[in-house]
Amino acid sequence: MGYNVAIDGPAGAGKSTIARLVAKEKGYIYVDTGAMYRGLAIHFLDQGIGAGETERVIEACKDADVKIRYEDGIQQVYLNGTNITGRLRDEAVGQMTSKCSAIPEVREKLLDLQRELARTQDVIMDGRDIGTCVLPDADVKVYLTASVKTRAKRRYDELAAKGESCSLDEIERDIEERDERDMNRETAPLRQAEDAVLVDSSDMTIEDVVRTIAGLCK
Ligand code: C5P
Repeated sequence: MGYNVAIDGPAGAGKSTIARLVAKEKGYIYVDTGAMYRGLAIHFLDQGIGAGETERVIEACKDADVKIRYEDGIQQVYLNGTNITGRLRDEAVGQMTSKCSAIPEVREKLLDLQRELARTQDVIMDGRDIGTCVLPDADVKVYLTASVKTRAKRRYDELAAKGESCSLDEIERDIEERDERDMNRETAPLRQAEDAVLVDSSDMTIEDVVRTIAGLCK
C-alpha cells in the first residue's frame, strides 16, 4: 500500500497548486482527479451530449477510456488514446464536468483507476470525495478551502495573466454554482471528512499552505 494524502475542497481553493508543490517536496505522485472527470466531460461534449441527457451520458461512458500518464513528472490525460490535457481547463468543460460528475455511473467509471493509483505508489490526490469515498483510509486528509471572494479573485488573476478577458462577478457566480452542485449531489458530495484537517487559505500565502500540509505528512 502506498502512502496516501487526500486533499478535498471547493473549486478554486488552490488544491492542485498546493498538491503539486507538496508532491515535489515529498517525492509523491500528484493525482488530479478533477482532470479525470474533465476528461470524461470532454468525451461527452465532443459527442454533442448535453449535461441534462443522463441516459446518453451513461451510454457514452462505455466507450470512454480515460488514462493517466506521467511525462516529465507531469500528469497527462488521454481520452481514447488522444492527449487532451490542453483542453481540460476550458470554462465550458468545468461546468459540464460538475454537472456530469453527479451521475453515479460516471463516478463508478473512475473509482477503480483512482484507487489503483493510490494502492501502488505514494500519492497526494486531490478532488471532492477523496477523503470521504475514494481513500477513506488515507494517511493524511486535508480539507482545503478559502472564502468565495478569495477563490474568485485568484481565478480571475490566473485568467488575466493568460490574457483571457473575464468578469470577476461571473467567476464568482460560476464558483458558487459549482460548489452548490458539488456539495448537494446525492453521490459522493463534497464535504469535510471527520478526520480531515481544515485549512482555510484565505489569508495564507502559497508557501504557508504548503508548509502546513507538508508538516502533516511523513
Ligand atoms: O477540481 P476540478 O475543478 O478540476 O474539478 C472539476 C469538477 O469535477 C468539480 O467541480 C467536481 O464536480 C468534479 N469532481 C468530482 N470529484 C472529484 C474531482 C472532481 O466530482 N474527486
